[in-house]
Amino acid sequence: MVKKDYDVIIVGSGPAGLTASIYAIRSNLKTLVIAGTTPGGQLMLTTDVEDYPGFPGGIQGPELMQKMREQAALLKVDFLDENVTKVDVKSEVKKVYVEKDEYKCKALIIATGASAKWLGIKSEQRLIGRGVSACATCDGYFFKDKDVTVIGGGDTALREVLFLAKICKNVTVIHRRDQLRAQKVLQDRAFTAKNIDFIWNSEVEEFLGKEKLDAVKIKDVKTGKTSEIKCEGSFVAIGHTPNTKFLEGTGIKLHGPGYIEVRDTVKTNVEGVFASGDVHDYRYMQAVTAASAGCMAAMEADTYIENLKHKE
Ligand code: NAP
Repeated sequence: MVKKDYDVIIVGSGPAGLTASIYAIRSNLKTLVIAGTTPGGQLMLTTDVEDYPGFPGGIQGPELMQKMREQAALLKVDFLDENVTKVDVKSEVKKVYVEKDEYKCKALIIATGASAKWLGIKSEQRLIGRGVSACATCDGYFFKDKDVTVIGGGDTALREVLFLAKICKNVTVIHRRDQLRAQKVLQDRAFTAKNIDFIWNSEVEEFLGKEKLDAVKIKDVKTGKTSEIKCEGSFVAIGHTPNTKFLEGTGIKLHGPGYIEVRDTVKTNVEGVFASGDVHDYRYMQAVTAASAGCMAAMEADTYIENLKHKE
């Protein structure tokens, strides 16, 4: 059984976790990133990233993550490519477990992100990045002046719809019921836009296209009738699952489907435990906002550890 002590442990290795690690180590804090068994976060599943500043012409998601990790490793951040199984934050010294191995720290930063929910139909995986996407801010521009569809009826879906309507020729919302779940103000905006239309009571059965998306095949859940909607882009916007299962029962407050509750941007309800990135942020969900929250979490962790010293 391994036992190791750190100043800061960061759980998660997307832009939030890696930025936090760069700031923590440069504050002279002994830092460990527990990166997960599939390190790098959601950007590892993305192709072109054209909106991360500093890369004219764009950069591939995995390359961006590799560069961030390289930067952290050069600064002597420790990495462990394992999944955290349990945390104990009940006392001042926080304990993080990877199976039976115990890692202790003064400050803990949770940056485990959230995973986009997918429909789970066969053609979806094949066409992700070839017309099928779960992020309009990231990929919407690829469909400038084209026809797109959005699947879902919640806040996420309508934010995507309104964003896409500014770029695309026409946006068709496909929703499985005849009522939206989204806030009224978003609904009103979508209903009054000229280039947004709705298909109600319909589910997507298949994404159609060989090399890239050509259309979606939908089924009316009331009549069973199927039809095809031509589109070059289709955005699955049925929500996200924050990766916080391992925090249940720890005393760290969660809300909704498991987002970490924060105050002052990155502070959780537990002293010395901070959150950054999509694990708490369901609104912006961008690499650059996650990175900035990682920076803030590391700076708060540094202040917290400094204050502990004065308390002693
Ligand atoms: P959500 O509220 O759970 O909505 C998910 C939507 O997708 C629902 O309309 C649901 O349909 C539909 N859906 C779910 N599974 C589906 C499936 N397999 N096939 C087809 N449709 C499916 O999720 P969300 O919109 O991501 O919001 C999550 C939370 O974050 C909410 O509390 C929301 O208010 C918050 N949020 C807030 C903002 C903001 O700007 N303030 C932005 C994003 C999210 P049904 O309606 O039939 O269930």
